[in-house]
Amino acid sequence: MPEIRNRTVRYGKVVALDDVTFAVQSGERVAVVGPNGSGKTTLLRALAGPGTAVVPQNVPTDLALGCREFVMLGRTAHLSAWHMPSRADEEAVDRALASVDAADLAGRRMDAISGGERQRLAIALALATEAPVLLLDEPAAHLDFRRRDELMALLARLDRTVVMTTHELPFDTDFFTRVVLLARGRIVAEGRPEDVLSSEHIAAAWGVPVKLRTVRCASV
Ligand code: ADP
Repeated sequence: MPEIRNRTVRYGKVVALDDVTFAVQSGERVAVVGPNGSGKTTLLRALAGPGTAVVPQNVPTDLALGCREFVMLGRTAHLSAWHMPSRADEEAVDRALASVDAADLAGRRMDAISGGERQRLAIALALATEAPVLLLDEPAAHLDFRRRDELMALLARLDRTVVMTTHELPFDTDFFTRVVLLARGRIVAEGRPEDVLSSEHIAAAWGVPVKLRTVRCASV
């Protein structure tokens, strides 16, 4: 499981992560929350390594690839050089496509599908690696609340440990087992969602007074 201890990350003079210690437990679903520039992406990158698969925020819209070939890229680590995908590779891709309800996209092209479909395929690519931990960078950033809640329901169905970043509040916390609140490169609160996502904590992290209300899709 990914873990960092007393990690500091600097970009020139900017301290993006400031002496952060953080460990992911198997089976957890963690939200890393904080304002823009608080170090969420840097934390996610610091956690990346063996046993993790990263789902990037944006997949290029002009990839000249079939959707199935794209998901097969997740098997690169398993393919020996110059060898065709094995039956196990094909089956892993089939399972990944089915997990994100995208089996029907297999024959389409990456440059001729919607943004939401591209995102599901990016998750499928990560699943095809068979890494037990998924790291997702702002997966809900461009989604309306219905699509966001559908994405959370999809992630909840996967048999994976999940760490995802988000700067958007409020959000439905039922999905998460833990929330980590970052501000200025430091963890300022961490624990159960209902404890961490208080008006006080959020106001302190963002530096503005807030009133919390959640809009949640009732059907997913
Ligand atoms: P978040 O994901 O919360 O928006 P980031 O981890 O992207 O935060 O960035 C944390 C800080 O590091 C910000 O001040 C950001 O401007 C800075 N930063 C991030 N990436 C770079 C980079 N490649 N070069 C210089 N500064 C960076």
